[in-house]
Amino acid sequence: MNIVIPASRMGATSPASPAGTSARPTREEAETAVRTLLRWAGDDPTREGLIDTPARVVKSYEEFFKGYSTDPVAILERTFEETDGYDEIVLLRDIRLESHCEHHMVPIIGRAHVAYLPHRRVVGISKLARVVEAYGKRLQIQEKLTAQIANTIQEVLQPRGVAVVIEASHQCMSTRGVHKSGVTMVTSRMLGAFRDDPSTRREVLAMIGNRSVSAGDD
Ligand SMILES: [Zn+2]
Repeated sequence: MNIVIPASRMGATSPASPAGTSARPTREEAETAVRTLLRWAGDDPTREGLIDTPARVVKSYEEFFKGYSTDPVAILERTFEETDGYDEIVLLRDIRLESHCEHHMVPIIGRAHVAYLPHRRVVGISKLARVVEAYGKRLQIQEKLTAQIANTIQEVLQPRGVAVVIEASHQCMSTRGVHKSGVTMVTSRMLGAFRDDPSTRREVLAMIGNRSVSAGDD
């Protein structure tokens, strides 16, 4: 007996799902979907003010989700070894984070702090910000985003430790649902020396200047 799984459910579990769930729709199909949502919201997509909206939304999506076409590993592959033995913390603080929550597709806005302890080689400092952007410009949950940034830096650079702290507010909490504004979610991922050595962790958290994460993380 064959068990038939509806195509709409296969996409969630099978990365190699058939066309219709995995094939990229055309721009025209995407614009049609926006028109459907405009009608669903209760408006008329043919009125003057909305006539170009589907095209604008689809163009915005290219920007919001450009991380899918960016390879974070490639960003980190060019490194420098002439560091004169520098082996202290390298921290890029207050990186603007713009992402979208994967449950509601509304913005997550905040700041990321990325640190590592070099082992023989360093990476151009702007590359850390670009890794944040490569994962941020996707549909995300903050926990996964934090882990992905840390894990990728650890795997590619192989430093003695990586620390990533993200503080962000989620518009799905402030503009809908519980309607709580001014709430910040803080997540952190500590690897290597930052995980194993409490004094190294304290040092990086002091550099970040965020007391709120120094107590709760293990
Ligand atoms: Zn959400």
